[in-house]
Amino acid sequence: MRIRFGIKHGNSIKWPARCLWCSAKPTKWQKYRKKSVYGLKHYVFWITILSRIQTIYYPVCAKHNLIAHLLRPSRLLWYAIITFIIFSIVEINLWLLVYMFLVAGYLYYRKHGLIIHKVGENYLELSMPDGKYAEEFGSLNNCNNIKGHLLMQD
Ligand SMILES: [Zn+2]
Repeated sequence: MRIRFGIKHGNSIKWPARCLWCSAKPTKWQKYRKKSVYGLKHYVFWITILSRIQTIYYPVCAKHNLIAHLLRPSRLLWYAIITFIIFSIVEINLWLLVYMFLVAGYLYYRKHGLIIHKVGENYLELSMPDGKYAEEFGSLNNCNNIKGHLLMQD
């Protein structure tokens, strides 16, 4: 199970002083950048795409800094595309093995890692595994309103 939080733009995010993955003493700040399209604005002759980019930093230990970096879902997708291209050129029959490894990596990341789902117009939507860390995160950031599947800031 994962818990989803909604953080208002402009509010700095407060993190428990522990590694998000294993609760060890954090030694690094993992960078996570996300761009989302939140709407289209129609003019007479053109459409402007409204999007927002946000970068956040969250605390991790050295080991999970590396793991979180390598296994981020958007990267796994790229690995899959690159493997697909290489394998179709070189005709290696190891693709099933590689894809199993990528799926395992994805499931592992979903179980332990941080995901930014959306940079909305007013809120940043992120999720982390259910547990003590998520509880502490919620109270540090005053996420007290339940709205749909989100625990939101007021
Ligand atoms: Zn860790």
